[in-house]
Amino acid sequence: MLIKTLLNKCYPVKGFIYGKVSLHETKITVKVKERKRSQGVCCRCKKTAPTYDHLKERYFRFIPLWGYIVLLTCKPRRVSCPKHGVTVEHIPWAKGKSPICEPFRMFLSHWAKYLSWQEVARQFRVSWKNVFESVEHVVEYGLKSRNMDNINTIGIDEIQYLRGHKYLTLVFQIDSGCKRLLFIGQNRSAKTLLRFFINFGKERSEQLKAICSDLWKPYLKVVKRKAPEAIHILDRFHVMKYLNDAVDQTRRAETAQLKQDGYEPILEKSRWCLLKNKRNQKTSQLARLRELVQYNLKTVRCYLLKEAFQHFWTYKTRWGAERFLKTWTTRAMRSRLPEMKKVAKRLRRHQVLLLNYFSVKERLSNGIVEGFNLKAKLTMRKSFGFRTFKSIEVALYHTLGKLPEPPVAHRFY
Ligand SMILES: [Zn+2]
Repeated sequence: MLIKTLLNKCYPVKGFIYGKVSLHETKITVKVKERKRSQGVCCRCKKTAPTYDHLKERYFRFIPLWGYIVLLTCKPRRVSCPKHGVTVEHIPWAKGKSPICEPFRMFLSHWAKYLSWQEVARQFRVSWKNVFESVEHVVEYGLKSRNMDNINTIGIDEIQYLRGHKYLTLVFQIDSGCKRLLFIGQNRSAKTLLRFFINFGKERSEQLKAICSDLWKPYLKVVKRKAPEAIHILDRFHVMKYLNDAVDQTRRAETAQLKQDGYEPILEKSRWCLLKNKRNQKTSQLARLRELVQYNLKTVRCYLLKEAFQHFWTYKTRWGAERFLKTWTTRAMRSRLPEMKKVAKRLRRHQVLLLNYFSVKERLSNGIVEGFNLKAKLTMRKSFGFRTFKSIEVALYHTLGKLPEPPVAHRFY
């Protein structure tokens, strides 16, 4: 009975022994019996107590083997605990009423990092809920045991979810040595971010050296109050987003205007060649761009202003960048492009935050916030089973939180 040997080797359970193994069609069933003269453990106080009686047989899913479903089965004892009366014994290989063994939970949650939850459920023949609970369990452990000390730099980002106007607030650690998701909160209000700082603690907040965020007012307010010592930076990803939005809105308005005036629709299907970074464009998009630039369109002027701004990030010194910003905003203000004027005004108003980018010794690599933003969106998109905030929260912590995992004697994957 090789399976028994294997189980004893990689998953011995104290107080129990593996018994008869039987194969029936696609299922391997392994009987688990209590050791002779052993006593059950009260599920509430975890203390041994004399046996009262045995319950009906229960089945627990173990990691499948060679296409066979593996089940552990046992008749749990009821014990008469001196403190709690008659209770069901504590089953060491599964939590509470869960029909999934601990090692299988770890296994499912491991694959849930690489595949969508539906895919994991399908591949290993369990329900979506089984996968969700497995991941939730591992995440809960991770959140309890993670180390939150020595965090110097954080980034705050907001992200839309469930296709409505619902937002999540995400806080990341973006130090060069460690990048991970620290916090997820529902909404993007001051209260949401306050909750992060309260959990994070006063001492740790005071240690923060730099904080990146966009210009969302509630965030600015909370950061000022909770981490006044930290340098607050308006990050590159969000600035470029403001500029891109301006280009996009101008393009939309102009497309409609051209159509109304009866001109040929030259701006149609030009969205991505105007928004994407030049370096990431396909040859066809670049050709389209060259064609567009020949027209004296508002959209094109807007695009050129946006591209000109890229130069801002290459400055080595704060004063150089400041001079550039002055020239650029003046140009934008005279451009007769209302959307660009709006951005320019905004950047002027928050000039200090923008220039703080140049005050941090270790220049924040511009891709971090953007990278997390993309990964978070991808995680949410990958599973259409996420209907609730709770499941999104668990999924994001799982994939981006770099959480410690429960210790195991044997790694099954
Ligand atoms: Zn008890």
